[in-house]
Amino acid sequence: MLKNDMLEQWDRESFFHPSTHLAQFARGEAPERVISGGQGVFIEDRDGNRLLDAFAGLYCVNVGYGRSEISEAIAEQARQLSYYHAYVGHGTEASITLAKMVMDRAPDHMSKVYFGLGGSDANETNIKLVWYYNNVRGRPAKKKIISRWRGYHGSGLMTGSLTGLAGFHNKFDLPLAPILHTEAPYYYRRPDLDMTEADFVAHCAAELEALIEREGADTIAAFIGEPVLGTGGIVPPPAGYWEAIQPILEKHDILLIVDEVVTGFGRLGEMFGSSKYGLKPDLITIAKGLTSAYAPLSGSIVSDRMWKVLEEGTDEFGPIGHGWTYSAHPIGAAAGVANLKLIDDLGLVRNAAETGGYFVNAMKTALSEHAHVGDIRGEGMLCAVELVEDKGSRTFYDPAGKVAGAVVAEMATSGVIARAMPQGDIIGFAPPLCLSKEEADRVVEVTAKAVKAVLG
Ligand code: PMP
Repeated sequence: MLKNDMLEQWDRESFFHPSTHLAQFARGEAPERVISGGQGVFIEDRDGNRLLDAFAGLYCVNVGYGRSEISEAIAEQARQLSYYHAYVGHGTEASITLAKMVMDRAPDHMSKVYFGLGGSDANETNIKLVWYYNNVRGRPAKKKIISRWRGYHGSGLMTGSLTGLAGFHNKFDLPLAPILHTEAPYYYRRPDLDMTEADFVAHCAAELEALIEREGADTIAAFIGEPVLGTGGIVPPPAGYWEAIQPILEKHDILLIVDEVVTGFGRLGEMFGSSKYGLKPDLITIAKGLTSAYAPLSGSIVSDRMWKVLEEGTDEFGPIGHGWTYSAHPIGAAAGVANLKLIDDLGLVRNAAETGGYFVNAMKTALSEHAHVGDIRGEGMLCAVELVEDKGSRTFYDPAGKVAGAVVAEMATSGVIARAMPQGDIIGFAPPLCLSKEEADRVVEVTAKAVKAVLG
C-alpha cells in the first residue's frame, strides 16, 4: 500500500481514539502506531516494523492474523448476502449454522444463543434478560447485580458500572445504582498476607454473603464474573473459589452470568472456562474468540431454565422488545463459522493448554527471582507479570502503572507487544492460541530483558 504522508496529521486532527490519553495524543506525546498488516502471531506497522503480538490485539485474535479461510468466508458472504436482519424469526444460513456450532460447544444445560456485536452490548443484553426474567416471575424488586472489583464487563453505562475498575468509572458518574461490587478473588493482593488460599476464599465468600444480607436477597438478581479475571490483572481464582461462591448464589436464588468474552473458545485450554471451573451459568457472555475479531460479533448464551421463562414472557407480553439492527450480522456469523472450524482443525484449544502452560513456566523460570517481580501467574494462554517496588510488602510503584508501561514500551523496541494492564503494575500476555514454543521463548526473552533494562 502507498504510504500516505498525511495519515499522522489526519489521525491527530480527526480520530477520537478509545482508551487513550486524549490531550497527550493531540500534543504528539503519546505513541502513534499505524498497523497495516498481520500474519500468524505478527503484525506489521506501516513503517515496516514486524511485531510479535503477545496480546492478540485485545485478547481476541485467537486463531492469529491473516487466515484466508476466514477472510474468504467473509468475502463470499458479502458477495452472496451482505446483510439481512434477524428480527421476527429471520435468519441467514451463516447465523443459523453459527448458532448450532456455538450450542454444540456450550455446556449441556444451555439452550439458545442471542447474537450481538461486542462484549459490552452482550452484557447489556444479559442485564435486560435478567430483569425480564424476574419481572415475568413476578419478582420486580429482584434487580440488583453483583460484580467484583477488578471485573471487566464493558464500558457502556450499565456494563461500565459492572466493570470494577476506577478508570472506567471516574468522571462518568458510574457505577449506577443497581450495580454492587464485592471482593476480587485476587490472592496475591489479599487483605492480610497471613491468609492461606483457603482463608482467602472463605473471606471472599463471607464478603459476598454479607453484601447479600445487607441488601436483601430479594433485591439481588444476578452475580457476574469472569472465570479468570482479565483486564483487572489476569488473575486466576484461588483454588476452591467458584466452589465456595456458587452455593451462595443458589441458596439466595441469584442467577450466575459467566463472562467468557476472553475465556470462551479455548483461551484457558478448554472450550469454555465454565467447564474448567465447574460453573453452571444461567447466561454466558461470548465475543472476541467467537470470530477471532475478524468481524464484530458477540453472544449471550441462555440456559434452559431462563429460556423457559423468556418463552412464557412472550406468550404473556408479546414479542421480546430487544434487538439490534446488526444482531447476528451475516458477515460476523460467516467469520464465526470459519473461525470455530479453524479452532478445531488446528487443535488450538489443546495448544492453548500445552504451549500456554509452557509459556507461563518459562516466564517463571526467567523472572521469578527478580527483585521487582512479585507474582507471575497464568492459565492456558493467559499470563501476567506483576511488578512491585518492594517484594516483601508488595507495594506498588508510585504512580501505579507507569513502570509496566515503561517495560511494555521497552519490549516494543525489541519487537514484542504486551499490555500494561489498566490498574496496577501488571504486564499482561494473551497471545494468539496458535503461539509456538519458539515464539513463546522469544516473548519471555524480550520480557526478561526489558524488565532488567527498566528496573535493573
Ligand atoms: N467482558 C470481558 C470479560 C471483556 O474482557 C471485555 C473487553 N475486553 C468485554 C466484556 C467488553 O467487550 P467489548 O469491548 O467488545 O465491548
